[in-house]
Amino acid sequence: MKRIPGAPDGALPIAGSTLYVPGLTNSGYVDGLVIDTGPDESIYEFASADRLAITHGHADHFSCGAYLRKRGATAVAARDDAALVENPDINIRGMFSWAKPGDLLVSKLFRGTPCRVDALVEKWRDKRATPVSLPGHTLGHTGFLTADKVLFTGDALYLEALWARHPLPYAIDPDLVASSLRSLRSVDFDWLVPGHGELVDRETALKDIDFHLAQIAQIEANILEMLITPHSTEECIAAVSAQRGLSDNPAQYWLAVTTVKGYLGDLLSKGLLEFSVVDHAGMWQTAS
Ligand SMILES: [Zn+2]
Repeated sequence: MKRIPGAPDGALPIAGSTLYVPGLTNSGYVDGLVIDTGPDESIYEFASADRLAITHGHADHFSCGAYLRKRGATAVAARDDAALVENPDINIRGMFSWAKPGDLLVSKLFRGTPCRVDALVEKWRDKRATPVSLPGHTLGHTGFLTADKVLFTGDALYLEALWARHPLPYAIDPDLVASSLRSLRSVDFDWLVPGHGELVDRETALKDIDFHLAQIAQIEANILEMLITPHSTEECIAAVSAQRGLSDNPAQYWLAVTTVKGYLGDLLSKGLLEFSVVDHAGMWQTAS
């Protein structure tokens, strides 16, 4: 494959000077600005990289962060996610109500090499891209729109093709995910690169956004229907996981715990659910 001077190995052009390296986690590149990284440090060996923009604090999005910093890049993340980038253990404890879970319970997506954050997205001044706030998957989740109208969305959007493998995408706040997805429609992009999955054009992306929104609405509707009869938190997690076809493995279960609680919390704050403690168990029911 022909190398593009200065760019990471395997980088493909999208528009203007915006490139991306497709992979397990897609990574963007614009004249020395790297947006998220996959796991392979060797692709940056001959690349010039002065800045790394991190969409959010999940370790699979900044695997090469520490390596790029060592080579002189400045790492940038949003205020609300910076601590997660600097200390991936925070995610691991967060999913277990701040207690320390055993290794078995921890998704590999949360494990990774810490990366110091040098600057906050909130103070961004770099013409190569513009940050787009897309909270919900994490609190500080941020997309980056390059000057060539290519939008890197991290894990804010799951393309339709990805739902077969990820039928319950991780979200700490599904309502925020939904409003971030709606806000994407008014972003002036021609191409969209999700964190995982294929590069899509605007027309396809808009359909994927509709699909993701419809899935969120479907999950909410299923929860409201199920909770016509009271269920404990644990029963809600089990029922939603079964409906979505998740497999019975501990790491997947603990991700589902956060996401299902996210849905329950959102529906409770909208007044659509009621919560009570019965015989020392937290119980949920559709509001009467
Ligand atoms: Zn993520």
